[in-house]
Amino acid sequence: MRGTKRLSRAACAAIALAVCGALLAACRERPHETVDFVMGTVVRQTVYGPSAETAAREAVERLRALEAALSFHDAASDISRLNRSSGGPQVTLGPEAIGLLERSLEFSRISDGAFNIMVGPLVRRWKVTADRPDVPPPAEIASLVRLASYRDLSVDRDRRTARLARRGQMADLGGIAKGYASDVILALYRARGVRSAIIDIGGNIGLLGSRPDGRPWNIGVQDPGRERGSYIGYLSLADNSVSTSGGYERFFVAGGRRYSHIIDPRTGYPADSGLSSASVIAPSAEESDALSTAVFVLGASKGIGLIQRRPGVEAVCITTDGTVIVTEGLRGRFTLTAPEGTYRVEYRYRVGPDAAGPARQR
Ligand code: FAD
Ligand code: MG
Repeated sequence: MRGTKRLSRAACAAIALAVCGALLAACRERPHETVDFVMGTVVRQTVYGPSAETAAREAVERLRALEAALSFHDAASDISRLNRSSGGPQVTLGPEAIGLLERSLEFSRISDGAFNIMVGPLVRRWKVTADRPDVPPPAEIASLVRLASYRDLSVDRDRRTARLARRGQMADLGGIAKGYASDVILALYRARGVRSAIIDIGGNIGLLGSRPDGRPWNIGVQDPGRERGSYIGYLSLADNSVSTSGGYERFFVAGGRRYSHIIDPRTGYPADSGLSSASVIAPSAEESDALSTAVFVLGASKGIGLIQRRPGVEAVCITTDGTVIVTEGLRGRFTLTAPEGTYRVEYRYRVGPDAAGPARQR
């Protein structure tokens, strides 16, 4: 009898331990979620694991430091110092600004200037988010287009210096820095032992691992015709980055036309390539950010032509007439949830190193 009692006590202790363990595991499964405002946009973090809270706090500090170095809007930033000395001598910059400027130049070259790191004078003149934006006269636009030449940016990585050749020129990292920042934060999470997290910096999303139960994350694709948080569908992804460029949030209307904040540097006017939005999926958020801006400028066919030889890069383009063009590599990873008759999905292009020739339609 006594033996049975002792045994049952031991069993009880074991059960209690197991329950505690299960509860602890369940607690760990719950993410630490934060919302902050940095780099002129909303930053959302969803971080799992015992160091989630520390990692998320450090992430915001890191983002504020990056903003101070890279912002076009902050007069004391590295980028503003560079812009102020345009047409003058070389400027010594921090390693982050130098590295990002150098890689931005490369994205400008490979996109033939659709992504253009020197678009600053045009962005500043169009000022689409200002209280009273206006459409500049054509002659002014033409002269600003001449200023927005990425060939006039020189970067010396070894000396950590950069220079803008002509007075009035301006580098603008607005189309790439949030993606870069997202990559920096994923590295910070990893260094803190986090294995499962999402960082979303104004639509530039970095995914660390998968969900704690091993399933992929479901990332909503914004419906460009409806309020923020309404999705046309979702992408199921792990260990990847997604960036979306669209003309539906930052724009103004004049003479019945809509002018967005993404400028086609070749014409000097806001991009008008038949897309409402371009989402690019890539191994790094820096790449997806720069390429989503380029694809939005180029339009679906040329834009996908640009990304199709880059390993691991895919896209979802929503056209102004409601077609959702999804690259072949996302078959099975994109789910349309919009009501029937609103959007139509077409899987059209093969992307990746084995894709031959220009983007092709099936
Ligand atoms: P994306 O397509 O990724 O980028 C569009 C942005 O890139 C434009 O706003 C412009 O800056 C630039 N751009 C436009 N056309 C091109 C082109 N053809 N090639 C390359 N680049 C182009 N906004 C504020 O209102 N206040 C702030 O204080 C502020 N601080 C910021 C600090 C930093 C470090 C950064 C990176 C951005 C900041 N912003 C700020 C900008 C704001 O977050 C922008 O709206 C944002 O960068 C636009 O990104 P997007 O994802 O909408 O579009
Ligand atoms: Mg971008």
